[in-house]
Amino acid sequence: MAEQEFDLIIAGAGAIGVCTALWAQKAGLKVLLTDPAAPGSGTVSGSAGTIATYACLPVNSPSVISGLPKLLTSPDSPLSLNPMHAVTHPRWMLSFLRNCAPSRVDRITRDLGALLRHADDGLSPLIEEAGAQDLMVANDALYVWSTQSAFEAAKPSNEKRRAQGVDFEELSPEQIRDLEPNLKLRPYRGLRFNGARHTLNPQALMERFHKRFLELGGQWEQQAIDRCSPKADGVEVHLADGQTRKARKFVVAAGARSTRIKGTGAERLPLGVERGYHVMYPQQADLISRPIGWAEAGFYATPMAEGLRIAGTVEIADLDAPLNPKRIAYLSRKATEMLGSLGQPTAPWLGYRPTFPDAMPVIGPSPASENILLAFGHQHIGLTLGGITGKVISALATDAPAPLDLSPFTPKRF
Ligand SMILES: Cc1cc2nc3c(=O)[nH]c(=O)nc-3n(C[C@H](O)[C@H](O)[C@H](O)COP(=O)(O)OP(=O)(O)OC[C@H]3O[C@@H](n4cnc5c(N)ncnc54)[C@H](O)[C@@H]3O)c2cc1C
Repeated sequence: MAEQEFDLIIAGAGAIGVCTALWAQKAGLKVLLTDPAAPGSGTVSGSAGTIATYACLPVNSPSVISGLPKLLTSPDSPLSLNPMHAVTHPRWMLSFLRNCAPSRVDRITRDLGALLRHADDGLSPLIEEAGAQDLMVANDALYVWSTQSAFEAAKPSNEKRRAQGVDFEELSPEQIRDLEPNLKLRPYRGLRFNGARHTLNPQALMERFHKRFLELGGQWEQQAIDRCSPKADGVEVHLADGQTRKARKFVVAAGARSTRIKGTGAERLPLGVERGYHVMYPQQADLISRPIGWAEAGFYATPMAEGLRIAGTVEIADLDAPLNPKRIAYLSRKATEMLGSLGQPTAPWLGYRPTFPDAMPVIGPSPASENILLAFGHQHIGLTLGGITGKVISALATDAPAPLDLSPFTPKRF
């Protein structure tokens, strides 16, 4: 491809990059989307598929600190931490712990809540544009607690969720069993998130968005971006094969690998990674009828097109560390406890949630240049927030006002 001028070049065709590409192309911009991998095949592909507009509570919480010794030493813990990683990443770890203070958690909840209230406005128009309604299911979502102590401990946080406008009702064990009779776990209580949706296949959803992007005239190159050089009137982008492309604006949406692209100003940001896993049971797609999150166990069971997906847990370890078989064993064991014998799973999957220590994404111009827009760090809710992030970035790329207050998400907050 000859050197060419674009309005927008996007690094990363994950949840954030694909949604941004479709919003910008719809807005009439000339867009180039790049990724070394196939569209939607990154972390979003293995997600639990929930459009979790109710998920405004960060992982950070005072209870993480008090419960840390147990969380880290028990083989039955949804959280695992590699001690060497903790020692070699003190900035992220200490900042994460500081953001567990009650006042900070309240602020994060409020800011994530405000962003999540726009999530459907960002995603629904893309689903319609791409004709992807068949990949969506609107059947609410459940959280279940298996112990009274954990449910009571979560009550104040759930009230904060309600204060953010999340519509949910408390369910008794009988009500939970009426909704999901195949649940083997004996629930103590549950919450039903009214109006919640999930996708039957997150990668197929991104592929559908990508296909529509191409139909509207968007351009795609299956290449990594190595670095960029800001210019007075735009940005020069250097591809892995040594070629360059030019654009007025450049968007960094490469998920957990975003800070590895040089020259963007993102390199200095304290992005971390929360690794998460899934196992799939192909024979069990019809066992349950909606996503069920088991609160104490830290994962969702989601009915999907290709089977039942058990997805979640948090592993704090290096981005490039190999898959940890103990995490897979944990998920398989807990899945059986929750739903009984499920048969043989398919190959296990590991993904990389891009996470800042304050659990907030960056959405906005880079400290290095107004022409470089940063859009990553969406931790556990990037599928949910891809649409609204894309809508916002597309507005910034056309110099239009953003549809919401972006000050909490500025990359300059670090
Ligand atoms: C187990 C698990 C369950 C989850 N469940 C949910 C859920 O139910 N709901 C929800 O909302 N979220 C969920 N998430 C979180 C969600 O998957 C992430 O927040 C989301 O994928 C982040 O989107 P992204 O576009 O930033 O990153 P990705 O989806 O990882 O995409 C980043 C892309 O950038 C590309 N890239 C990397 N380097 C370069 C480069 N140099 N140049 C160009 N491209 C590059 C990668 O190849 C990749 O395709 C889950 C995550 C995990 C791990």
